[in-house]
Amino acid sequence: MNSFEALGLNEQLVASVTDLGFENPTPIQEKAIPILISGTTDFVGLAQTGTGKTAAFGLPLIQLINPQDKFPQALVVCPTRELCLQITNDLQNFKKKIRGVNVEAVYGGASITMQIRNLRQGVQIVVATPGRLIDLIERKAVDLQKVKYVVLDEADEMLNMGFRDDIDFVLKNTVNRESIWLFSATMPPEVRAISRNFMESPKEVTVGKKNSGNANIVHNYYICAAHQRYETLKRLIDFNPGMYGIIFSRTKADAQEISERLSKAGYDIEALHGDLTQQQRDKVMGRFRAKTLQLLIATDVAARGIDVDGITHVINYELPDDMEVYTHRSGRTARAGKSGISISICHVREIYKIRQLEKMVNASFHKVDIPLGKEVCRKQFFHFMDRLIAADISNGDYETFLPDLMERFAHVSKEEVLQRVAALEFSHFLKYYENAEDLNVKESRTARNDNREYGKPGNARRERGNYNNRDNGFTRLFINLGTKDGFYKASFLQFILDESNLKKDTLGKIDLREMNSWVEVDRSVAGKMIRSLDGKRFNNRAVRMNEADGGFKRPSDDGMPRGGNRTKKERNIF
Ligand code: AMP
Repeated sequence: MNSFEALGLNEQLVASVTDLGFENPTPIQEKAIPILISGTTDFVGLAQTGTGKTAAFGLPLIQLINPQDKFPQALVVCPTRELCLQITNDLQNFKKKIRGVNVEAVYGGASITMQIRNLRQGVQIVVATPGRLIDLIERKAVDLQKVKYVVLDEADEMLNMGFRDDIDFVLKNTVNRESIWLFSATMPPEVRAISRNFMESPKEVTVGKKNSGNANIVHNYYICAAHQRYETLKRLIDFNPGMYGIIFSRTKADAQEISERLSKAGYDIEALHGDLTQQQRDKVMGRFRAKTLQLLIATDVAARGIDVDGITHVINYELPDDMEVYTHRSGRTARAGKSGISISICHVREIYKIRQLEKMVNASFHKVDIPLGKEVCRKQFFHFMDRLIAADISNGDYETFLPDLMERFAHVSKEEVLQRVAALEFSHFLKYYENAEDLNVKESRTARNDNREYGKPGNARRERGNYNNRDNGFTRLFINLGTKDGFYKASFLQFILDESNLKKDTLGKIDLREMNSWVEVDRSVAGKMIRSLDGKRFNNRAVRMNEADGGFKRPSDDGMPRGGNRTKKERNIF
């Protein structure tokens, strides 16, 4: 008996999955299908994307619905349009050998009229994003009265995206359902609450450990100065010439800016973020999927639900604030049994976050040195040479040119040809990396800061003694506010961030004293912070903020003295 058959699937479904090349069920399929196929049991599946969970619920759904009845019998709700289309596409593939089963995707950003028309054609399985589904319910364009099975896919993502009320609404509108099947990569209390409020003794199945990551993912991190993230990213891309990856940034602005800078520098990259029209998003995703685009930079919201096979690297340009987001990001690689690398670019003050992640993902994170310029060149060089050797010459009519070529190269040795090819291909690389600086933050510095909680006062004192020797990208600012003004650390932090409109990760250590305080801030935004706060009034007192170590001249990153012969504008870049 075929292993899918043994799970209780009918002949046609077994034939479809065989056609798709599925040889054996994945663990979630093995555990979930026998339970779901009964149709009457509420179910919670803790599984990441990439584990084969779509087939785990999709195959039983198709088997359970009655193709003769031309009304919605199953509803799949998922967070994003991309995921909605992927699930629909998978279901279309699974049902290929069964007549009369209709599946329809309904999602925002596309014509609702067309979706309404299609729903009227006798659809049994509706795959929907929450917003559009509610719109359709309110227009009475979809009838959920006879829906027996409700699947909530990526439930944690839906809640993260603020769809809690929508999910409640949908569940309250499917009054005759027989079961709810909830899938989630993680189990935060909000997801637990859905199971408590709407499900009856659900069977729970976990693939791997709870909240654990995929064992095929290698987690690496690189430590650089805060202002050298971009340069580090560029170097890591150059060091991995075969990379097919997604870079995650925290904001749309970052995604846009980094993609523009890298594109200008000749990299094959596009940004995916919420400001794009649906058409633009589809175009970018189409290119990425077809692998004509090597790199995608995306915000978390925009990247939700992306399921692309073969992604080799996920890069966290910055670590996410929400640790669970990391699991989702890294889960974009190492899908369907393949392996992948999840890279995090951090600065010293984020190492404690790495430790937290290690606990959460239950895996070791490896600190890797940022490659030196000459290492990047070597890697690129041999990558190119490998391609040269592997080039397919069987189809071109190259032989006809050979006599002429041989004549032209009669006095040139093989070594020289190779060198000339290398020079053509590599001059720009060699030039770029000729005097490239070492981006690694020195080991002693990282060791000293390791495991240190952000802003812990005990260490602050120890560190200040070493301040002049340190260059981790921060500048220390003085401010004449302190605990006497009623501040605690959290309220103080909030105050300076609100006033300056800067993000928390631009800050280093905060040393809050009674009369005045010191704030470490990323050098690139120190000016902005001073301009925003200096001269402001607080409790009827003028706020004074300036560079604490103004008198101390310390070499800047490019070896030029600070405030040397650069213009003010140039200085701000660094
Ligand atoms: P999912 O977690 O549903 O997004 O599935 C991830 C990928 O695994 C998809 O590309 C599926 O086509 C593939 N897949 C699902 N089940 C199997 C299986 N039993 N054998 C091989 N590949 C599978």
